[in-house]
Amino acid sequence: MKRIVFFSIPAWGHTNPTVEVVRELVRRGNAVRYYTFAPFREKLEGAGAEVILCDGFLPPAPADLDERMGKDFSLLIKMVTDTTLAMDEKVMGELKLFRPHVIVSDSVCFWGKLFARKLGVPYVCSTTTFAFNQHTAKLMKPKAGEMLYSLLGFPRISRCMARLRRHGYKVEKFLDLIQNDNETDTIVYTSPRFQPMAETFSRRYAFVGPSLPHLPEEEASKSRPLIYISLGTVMFDQPDFFRRCVEGLAGLDADVILSTGREGDFSALPENMKAYPRVDQLEVLRRADLFVTHCGMNSANEAIWFGVPTVLYPQQSEETAVADRMEELGLGVRLKSDAPEAIRGAVETVLREPRYRENTRRLSREFRCLGGAEAAADKIESMAEADETTAL
Ligand code: UDP
Repeated sequence: MKRIVFFSIPAWGHTNPTVEVVRELVRRGNAVRYYTFAPFREKLEGAGAEVILCDGFLPPAPADLDERMGKDFSLLIKMVTDTTLAMDEKVMGELKLFRPHVIVSDSVCFWGKLFARKLGVPYVCSTTTFAFNQHTAKLMKPKAGEMLYSLLGFPRISRCMARLRRHGYKVEKFLDLIQNDNETDTIVYTSPRFQPMAETFSRRYAFVGPSLPHLPEEEASKSRPLIYISLGTVMFDQPDFFRRCVEGLAGLDADVILSTGREGDFSALPENMKAYPRVDQLEVLRRADLFVTHCGMNSANEAIWFGVPTVLYPQQSEETAVADRMEELGLGVRLKSDAPEAIRGAVETVLREPRYRENTRRLSREFRCLGGAEAAADKIESMAEADETTAL
């Protein structure tokens, strides 16, 4: 039995893939503790983790958080630094008592990595996006606003690094914190073929494919296709986009499910459309024929897993990189504009041309051979065993 500690940020996209990994580690008899936030408690406890909530350590969100989210990297670093230092005394004390054999932390949850380093405990990076290094960084084409934020943010980032060093955290430079080199043991929840430039990552990277619960294949036959539309759980607040989808797809011989992220916007919908604030996405994708997606990495992985072709509507540079790869592999069609006619045209193209579904199903077969949560658990256990002597 090993003692394993997870850390993640308050985001579904970064938490969801770890749930089945936790379940598998617990099933194998390990003790798993998870430092997380209130919305994720139930799911993680359901998987068998001992959950410790960290909500009280988060700094107050700035008034313009929505505007800067995903663009202003210095804001993220400032929030991470504040959170790390707020947690420092309590969590370091608890970890010294728990004596973890290994710490698993999300790739942008830098405090997990910092705690592991300070304690000298083996660290595994859990990457729910594409793996990131100096080569793939070139694929992220920052938009003008993002570049401006980056330039203005450098002095602030330097101040954060200095604060961390004063508290005993070894961070030489900012890249040291955000970038995983080829020496870092890393789990990536996708396949080497979907990952851009997979050949630039060392053998320490385990591309385990999506980590999803075992759901039965879809059986019931449908009289018409099912279209699913979602912009994920972060940047979903775009009621105009959903209205344009409704307008564009009106009269189409298909059922449409919209996950809009909020209550009550869409009371008078055509009979073939239903809108919900949130759905069980895996359950919907299992039955869907087409997914209009913002190309969050999890949504992309889940669509591919279920062999569902896509209409691509990325919002941020990270999602654009995912959309680029999906387009390259012929898994979907990118929206040229969000006008109702453009949405309808893209949807009709993907439904009409079988190659999108065929390409997606081919990649799905590859995803399903990679081991998912079991392979991730193997990697974590191997790290715990390899370095038993250094456990606290
Ligand atoms: N999700 C869900 N129901 C919804 C919308 C999203 O369960 O109505 C889940 C989805 O299955 C995925 C995660 O939320 O696991 C979204 O992650 P993704 O990386 O796609 O996008 P993000 O929300 O981080 O932008």
